[in-house]
Order: sequence, then C-alpha cells, then structure tokens
Amino acid sequence: MSIASNIKILRESVPSEIKIVAVSKFHSTDEIMEAYEAGQRIFGESRVQELVQKSDQLPKDIEWHFIGGLQRNKVKQIAPFISLIHSVDSERLMREIEKQAATNSRTISCLLQIHVAEEDTKSGFTPNECLQFLSDGAWEECPHIKFIGIMGMATFTDDTEKVRNEFNRLRQLFEKVKTDYFAGDSDFKEISMGMTSDYPIAIEEGSTMIRVGTKIFGER
Ligand SMILES: *Cc1c(COP(=O)(O)O)cnc(C)c1O
Repeated sequence: MSIASNIKILRESVPSEIKIVAVSKFHSTDEIMEAYEAGQRIFGESRVQELVQKSDQLPKDIEWHFIGGLQRNKVKQIAPFISLIHSVDSERLMREIEKQAATNSRTISCLLQIHVAEEDTKSGFTPNECLQFLSDGAWEECPHIKFIGIMGMATFTDDTEKVRNEFNRLRQLFEKVKTDYFAGDSDFKEISMGMTSDYPIAIEEGSTMIRVGTKIFGER
C-alpha cells in the first residue's frame, strides 16, 4: 500500500471533524511529500532537530505539531513556526514557550499533556497535578500561549478495556478542566488521543485529534 492510499483509507474511515496528525518522525521528506500531495497538511514530529530540518525543506503551508518531550533549551528553535505543542507538562516549559513566543510576536497553541498510562516512561501531568497547575494560575500570566485542550497516551497493551478506561479518564479530565477553567473559551476543545494501535477506541471515547504514524508511513 502506498502512503497516499493509506491516508485516503484512514481519512475515509474517520469522522470528518476529527483532525489527523500524520506522525512523520524518522520518515523522509520524500515520504512526507507523498502524504502532502495526497492532501495531508498536519504533520507531527517528536525531535526538534529533525523537525527544523524538515520544515526548512518542505512547503510552508504545512501545520507542524510537536508531539514529544520538549527540552526548554530547544523551544527557541521551533517557536518561529510551530502550530501546536502537544506536550506541555511543567510550569518551567510553559514559561519558556511564553518567552520564545513573545520574542517571535506569536501566540503558540498548546495542549496540556496528561499521564494516565501505566508505564512510567510516559511523561505528562497526572490528572491531579494538572488541576493543581491550573489552580496555581501561572498559565494566566502567559498571553502568548493559548491552551486549546489536552493530550494523552494509553498504556501499550492488548487489553482494550484498559485502553478504553484510560481514554475515558482523559475525556473526563478534559470535561472538568473545560468546566472549571475554560467554560467561556470556544477554542479549548481538543482531546489529542489515539495512535495507530488504538485510535478507533480513542475516537469512541471522545478524541478530536488522532496522531497516526505507522498506519500511514509504515514501520519506522
Ligand atoms: C510516535 C508517536 C505517535 C504515532 O505512533 P504510531 O504508533 O506510529 O501511530 C503518536 N503520538 C506520539 C506522542 C508519538 O511519539
């Protein structure tokens, strides 16, 4: 199967209001162009250097999303062009994004990354840490950051009930955060959850944005 047909099949099988982030990490600019020519415009990368190189070489109407662990000293490199950072999980990272966004006279959209999976390796706030972070209020001192929702990953397991349960917890946290902090903000509406192995469950549990790599580009 070609990348173009993988994209078409995925797009047709997913409700049209759900955004598809094509996760292109470790794949070449030629492969990204094949997806681009099939109409894909949102791409996700998880390493700063790779993202900067690719964005330099590829069409300017691509919407680049950063989906991995982000070191504060590298925010500067993506601040001029990044469309959405999925992985805000500390006040210090948020403050650095604020600073670099201001330097570039931009407002950068961000998601709060939430940890609900079993693996310790997955980063993010726990739901309680997220609520504490919001109640602390430092985010309200960041006029160059726009929080538009939350992001999370489920445990990598065949136990679909466990995966469903974790996505459901993300959805419930989203609803609480929306009600308590963003009720009047129509831009706060995104739940980024679901990857190649679990996106159908994520959609059933309320995902608005799926991040799919392998199913589009093949194995990395
Ligand atoms: C790599 C990655 C994905 C895509 O994973 P696939 O299993 O290839 O679809 C999604 N989200 C994040 C955060 C990733 O790092």
